[in-house]
Amino acid sequence: MGSGALVLNATYEPLCVVSVRRAAVLVLTAKAVCVADGDEVLRSARNSLPVPSVVRLTRFVRVPFRAHVGLSRRAIFARDGWRCAYCRGPAETIDHVLPRSRGGRHSWENVVAACARCNHTKGDKTPAELGWRLPAPPVAPKGIAWRVLGHRPPDPRWVDWLDLREPEAA
Ligand SMILES: [Zn+2]
Repeated sequence: MGSGALVLNATYEPLCVVSVRRAAVLVLTAKAVCVADGDEVLRSARNSLPVPSVVRLTRFVRVPFRAHVGLSRRAIFARDGWRCAYCRGPAETIDHVLPRSRGGRHSWENVVAACARCNHTKGDKTPAELGWRLPAPPVAPKGIAWRVLGHRPPDPRWVDWLDLREPEAA
């Protein structure tokens, strides 16, 4: 609830998520039309407007394509399902698979979510040195849903506009 509203370009391409208040202003000023209503109703002296859940801009906006998803702690946790990559326990911290002290990079391909215990045990070692295995090599998240949502959980009303299926042959 109150998680925001999905904004679509005039071409129906998902652009971003804004507050429902911002989305309502876009609709009231005719900059956007409501495509899907939310559950709540905004009331003012003159108007009673269902809170928008999805709006479409009336004029096309050109958006610079953002190819890379920002490498934030929350984004890493979200990619890894809030679970430790080594023991599947709750994630509490970020681990560099090849430790930074040994030249490991701070990149999507070298960071995983980890619990404090595994992170501490691992120290300056590699998973191979400990006999640990990662379920899959870490990769940068891809797809329009990640660009638009980041770590945000999607509203079920948005799934028609965002391709949230797992990529094939991941
Ligand atoms: Zn762990």
